[in-house]
Amino acid sequence: MVAGEKELAKLWALVKNSLQREISSKQYKAWVEKSTKLLRFEENKVAVAVPNSVVLKWLSNNAKFKIARILSQLLGTDVIVEFKITPSAFREYKKRDKNSDTVSLFDPEAKYSEQVKKALEKAQIHPKYTFENFIVGKNSQLAYAAAAAVADSLGETYNPLFIYGSVGVGKTHLMQAVAHKVISKDPMRKVYYCSSETFLNEMVDSIRKGKTLDFRNQYRQLDLLLIDDIQFISNWQSTQDELFHTFNTLYNAGKQIIFASDRPPSEINGLADRLKSRFEGGMVVDILPPDFETRVAILKRYNETKHIKLPDAVLERIAVLVVDNVRTLIGAYNKAHSYMKLTQSEISPDEIEKLLGIDQASLQRKLTPQKIISSVASFFGVQEKDLKSKSRSARVVLPRQVSMYLIRTLLHFSLEETARALGRKDHTTVLHAIEKMKYLQAEDKEFAQNILRIKGKLVR
Ligand code: ADP
Ligand code: MG
Repeated sequence: MVAGEKELAKLWALVKNSLQREISSKQYKAWVEKSTKLLRFEENKVAVAVPNSVVLKWLSNNAKFKIARILSQLLGTDVIVEFKITPSAFREYKKRDKNSDTVSLFDPEAKYSEQVKKALEKAQIHPKYTFENFIVGKNSQLAYAAAAAVADSLGETYNPLFIYGSVGVGKTHLMQAVAHKVISKDPMRKVYYCSSETFLNEMVDSIRKGKTLDFRNQYRQLDLLLIDDIQFISNWQSTQDELFHTFNTLYNAGKQIIFASDRPPSEINGLADRLKSRFEGGMVVDILPPDFETRVAILKRYNETKHIKLPDAVLERIAVLVVDNVRTLIGAYNKAHSYMKLTQSEISPDEIEKLLGIDQASLQRKLTPQKIISSVASFFGVQEKDLKSKSRSARVVLPRQVSMYLIRTLLHFSLEETARALGRKDHTTVLHAIEKMKYLQAEDKEFAQNILRIKGKLVR
């Protein structure tokens, strides 16, 4: 039986209709709806046109048998399904892809009224920096909880809220999330976000133009003031004075202030004591670099928003390679994603290393907790199973602690993950092991050398 184009289209519409009930609507939209077409139907073979190998692979793994069954039922005969990549399917797909690569999660446009959008813009708030888009890990739990509490009761819980942490860990995102929530609840609230540098520039500008009163009023009538990168304030004495008065006015009126900084108030050089004590007078919370689990969670969340998805193994490899900062983590994700989109082919965990060109790659490649444990065991001449056992004999305690230390520092596992790798539940033993390893390495040259040797074996 050979079918014409019209018949093929009709038949495929029926198949899609049935298939839609068997897979999630997200999957249907991403992989089937506009990216497939019935190409041929000859003998009992059906060829389905797909735009690229990524779609092909997904369909082969997830829908091939379903499609075959649906067709068999429709036609009353056994059918073999095959997928073919065709240029016309590719063109169709690209057309669609251009318009909608990112789905609703990061798409504020769909969700907010014009009034809210305008208010966000006026307050200098990035529409994507919301609580919903912020993945909470152990590294950010406390900061997140504090920010959420502040958003729910401005000026009443922690005032000021002072968030600190190294670059790219989500400080700006989190502080803006507070502003975002406040504005979307009530767009008339007066909110303003700026960096300490902008604060300085606006101040200097107002002096030059003889408009200091305007400057002061602009800041002092706010409901919520957010000043980012406040660590730079220490460079400018007059700005410190101005900020002090702004702070007092807002604070005394019960208005909320949030600061972000790359270090705690006590470590900001040249910060006037009176400001320091103000900064410390509310709640000071830190955000740490994300642990492995959180890194994977962040990557998965980004992946969910894309039509073309990176495989989990690739996400995990990225999380192994990029360790200290969410911004570079997302950068690495985007790089891998564009590569996959561009070449229309799947990328492997090993290719990702080349693509990212990360130095640590060779160290961390294929390094697993198991490999670390077995190297350590053979180095100390003990059995692997003893390291994972409950034994407290001195012979195995030290190598066990070395394993914990290496798993934690080389693989950037969380304390819990490290404990689990050695068959333990209690992560305080890991904490203890790491402290001891640091101490021993500092005190005992031979021991430090041994650690280096074990590492050297793992690198190769
Ligand atoms: P910082 O201000 O600490 O330097 P940012 O807030 O600018 O860092 O974050 C850098 C990027 O990483 C932003 O795109 C932000 O949305 C993203 N990001 C940071 N932390 C998270 C998180 N926990 N979940 C999701 N995205 C995050
Ligand atoms: Mg920032």
